[in-house]
Amino acid sequence: MKCPICNRDMKEGVVQSGRTIFFTTEPHTFFFLPNDIMSEDVTLSQHNWTRPTCKAYHCEKCRKVIIDYDA
Ligand SMILES: [Zn+2]
Repeated sequence: MKCPICNRDMKEGVVQSGRTIFFTTEPHTFFFLPNDIMSEDVTLSQHNWTRPTCKAYHCEKCRKVIIDYDA
């Protein structure tokens, strides 16, 4: 994948966490799981019961990570 900012090749890898990885517009302060029903939270990771993982691409120059979800 090419970086959308500098157009250089991005390094393919994964983002991992010990818990489900999600995007939210309203940062959670207590319950750190996505609220898929009552909000616009988007679950990004798969294998959430064993090894929450997202396929991702990294540009070191721009310090950006692009995450593919449902991938
Ligand atoms: Zn870049």
